[in-house]
Amino acid sequence: MKVRKIPMSQEKRIALVAHDNKKQDLLEWVRFNRDLLARHVLYATGTTGEILEMELGREVRKFQSGPLGGDQQIGAKIVDGEIDFLVFFWDPLEPLPHDPDIKALLRLAVVWNIPVACNRASADFMISSPLMEGEYDRLVPDYETYQKRRVRLLLSEEEETVEKVEQPADNALSGPAGG
Ligand code: PGA
Repeated sequence: MKVRKIPMSQEKRIALVAHDNKKQDLLEWVRFNRDLLARHVLYATGTTGEILEMELGREVRKFQSGPLGGDQQIGAKIVDGEIDFLVFFWDPLEPLPHDPDIKALLRLAVVWNIPVACNRASADFMISSPLMEGEYDRLVPDYETYQKRRVRLLLSEEEETVEKVEQPADNALSGPAGG
């Protein structure tokens, strides 16, 4: 499959999400990395965003709370190429009502080749990477070619199915055994 490059500018658009048991962790991480984060645009799910705004004293662009659809809103922004980077401290020890949304967000981050940190150590390594300081082209499979090919494939499959259905139907009516 061909790939295409999606440019990330020096100023990254970073989405931050923390489940309730992980909010303290994220708060401490953000406090520690305040200066590095100051160079980037921050997004967050509702409650996480409010906590971060109080801590940082700067604007965090807030979506809905996670369980009310915030994770999906961030996922949609990733698809639209409007988020470059995800810090997602999800809770591995507690089931949550929006589990499908959590999986969907993590999945879309992989589909669109977004850097994702799911714990403090990964987030530390990512935020201190020299790649944060410059432009970066992330490589994404050329899904447009994939999509066109798939439509063609599905249409030809559909046509074949129609032919196959028509033949047995004729045979069934005229055949001796019937059913
Ligand atoms: P919250 O959502 O920031 O609104 O708590 C986080 C989540 O549960 O995904």
